Amino acid sequence: MSKEDTLNSSVQYIKSVGPKRAEAFNKIGIKTIRDLLFYFPSRHVDRTNILTALKAYGYVLNGYDGEFTIIGQVTDKDSRRFGRREIFKVNFRDQSGFFECVWFQGVKFFINVFNRGDIFAISGKPTVSKYGNLQFAHPEFDRISEDESQSFLNTGKIIPIYRIPKELRTTNIGDFSLRRIINNAVENYLDKLEETLPNHIIKDNELQNIKDAVRNYHFPNSKENLIEAKRRFIFEELFFLEILVALRKKNIKSKLGGHSLKINTSLVKDFLKTLPFELTKAQLKVLSEIKNDMMVESPMNRLLQGDVGSGKTIVALIAMLIAVDNGFQAALMAPTEILADQHAKNISNYMKLLKQVNSQKEVKISLLIGGQKKSLRDKNLEDIELKESDIIIGTHALFEEKVKFSKLGLVIIDEQHRFGVLQRSRLHEKGNAPDIIVMSATPIPRTLTMTVYGDLDLSIIDEMPLNRKPVKTILRGEEKLPDIFKFIRDKSEEGLQSFIVYPLVEESEKLELKAALTYYEMLKATYLKDLKVGLVHGRMSWNEKEETMQLFRKKEFDVLVATTVIEVGIDIPDANIILINDAHRFGLSQLHQLRGRVGRGGKQAYCILVTSEDIAKRSEKANKNLEFLSPAEIEKHKAAIRLQSMVKYNDGFKIAEIDLKLRGPGDIFGLKQSGFPEFKHADIITDSKLILQAKEEAFKLIGDDPELKLPSNQTIKKNLLDYYPDNLKYANIA
Ligand code: ADP
Ligand code: MG
Repeated sequence: MSKEDTLNSSVQYIKSVGPKRAEAFNKIGIKTIRDLLFYFPSRHVDRTNILTALKAYGYVLNGYDGEFTIIGQVTDKDSRRFGRREIFKVNFRDQSGFFECVWFQGVKFFINVFNRGDIFAISGKPTVSKYGNLQFAHPEFDRISEDESQSFLNTGKIIPIYRIPKELRTTNIGDFSLRRIINNAVENYLDKLEETLPNHIIKDNELQNIKDAVRNYHFPNSKENLIEAKRRFIFEELFFLEILVALRKKNIKSKLGGHSLKINTSLVKDFLKTLPFELTKAQLKVLSEIKNDMMVESPMNRLLQGDVGSGKTIVALIAMLIAVDNGFQAALMAPTEILADQHAKNISNYMKLLKQVNSQKEVKISLLIGGQKKSLRDKNLEDIELKESDIIIGTHALFEEKVKFSKLGLVIIDEQHRFGVLQRSRLHEKGNAPDIIVMSATPIPRTLTMTVYGDLDLSIIDEMPLNRKPVKTILRGEEKLPDIFKFIRDKSEEGLQSFIVYPLVEESEKLELKAALTYYEMLKATYLKDLKVGLVHGRMSWNEKEETMQLFRKKEFDVLVATTVIEVGIDIPDANIILINDAHRFGLSQLHQLRGRVGRGGKQAYCILVTSEDIAKRSEKANKNLEFLSPAEIEKHKAAIRLQSMVKYNDGFKIAEIDLKLRGPGDIFGLKQSGFPEFKHADIITDSKLILQAKEEAFKLIGDDPELKLPSNQTIKKNLLDYYPDNLKYANIA
């Protein structure tokens, strides 16, 4: 048998396992000896602390409640019945005094373990019994024999604690026996484990080799060794992830197809003349990055980030005009129909202005969304296929089979941070490897742009148009609502419009509609009776919604009552107040998006967050720096912290960072859909340094050896094929 074969054989062959336990292990996914070696403890306890009975007694009396170990000899044992319960007690002594251990379960087993005269190391958190004795209940223990060579598994060390699912428990595997089984595996088979990282990577990053790391992860001889063992596995996981990212990126770039465009076209020059404002420096910068990509043959694959209102749309439009003037079609995909419609209207208006300056080329726009008349939709589809349309705008339906682009050169995905890597890859296959820009107003933390979004090049608009004043954000308890409505009335006399948002509370459509209507009727009858109030909610069809929006834009309404349908992208320059009811129910990035609906003109805008009195008060208290809060405090005050963060910060990147902290790694947007493996060891928040380090190593390695041909990289290739076959779909190694 070769080395590999041995590790791949059944756990059954490990001492004290056998067929029955092997079956139990199989049920929890541990089939081979290798699997068992990689069944790492969920935590460790430090049992390096050995005390005498007398010292320990003193500690406990003084209120110390940590773990320690005492080594003692059995003086006698005794089991008693109390009704149906049986209690087993063993008395011990050492040179300084005495102590006792009690068991309430598994008594039959323990009675045979402890015999007069035997020496044991007992570990746990003792208490003082009602008779004043130092007592351990259900402690961990090691029998200590005369034989010096026997190593203690449970004593004098940092001890691993494993998760023991019920499948194992039913075959009588407990802490003690599992530790022994794994120790057997480590002692007898670790030697056969082959290194999974190339030597130069291990050396350069000062990592433990795989054998040391596995051993230390289970049975470390110091805290430092344990930390280093973990670091190796975190690094390894991130390194392979980044190798996959680098391969994917390389693969997209080297795809056949793609096209090189002329970038300084007359259409674009003329368009810039029609703009009523100057582009910001940041807009110009990202535009030049985009142009560079369009100039070269390999397809663009770029993430354009910019806070809400930073002016991404214009940048996207200019890129589309470049494509159009080069004879290509450009597609713009919006997350909602209403937003697609808004884009179509805006862009059509811009194109009308453009036509006045440049009459030679008419840019034709098609809108493709659900709820359109069939005849219109069919005509649009035909236009697209015959290349009557230059710019095609729509929702994700744009990329259905039915839509046949005639010459698609550029795809822009707006506000779509949930659009996974797999879907993006599908886009690359549409048309002849079109350029792709993904736009996101929800700033994506750096750790994610290095992982989930790592195959994209990054452009950031990090500056707002000059005429913007930061939105003033205010947090109020519900009891202040009458004052707030008065504020809205006063401001409407100055011509300011307001959104009033309330959260979806009802499950059923009917009830939701009723809640919306009731709220709307109440406001019209009471606080806002002298104002013109509109209503938009999720149960309306998109053209009803759009009609209402148009009326609001034309100032037919002073106030628009809305559910979160207004969350994304809606652009109404004169709306300057947004009142968000029950603000504690919203997520942080959602609140930031909502706030982004106001303050788009030059006037001072307000975001008023309304919540219960209680949360408003607590939120004041949470007004410390987040860094100083413990995870437990964060968990307890999440809603209050979200609200306070909104009050304190206008910067979307800061907000996104806090959001990530609050939501934790379990709920990372995009990670699940990304087609990348899930993390077992790494934590996307706390391991950002290692992410960067692993990324640099991986990209350098793939840059030097894109097809993993070098002998020194064969370990990597083998591991990718063995352990990440599903993730290699978009990589290209033979
Ligand atoms: P977002 O990045 O959120 O998509 P938009 O592209 O919708 O932002 O832009 C928000 C508003 O700012 C629009 O009304 C747009 O016309 C305007 N705008 C964009 N760029 C500038 C600029 N350089 N100067 C002034 N206003 C701008
Ligand atoms: Mg936008």
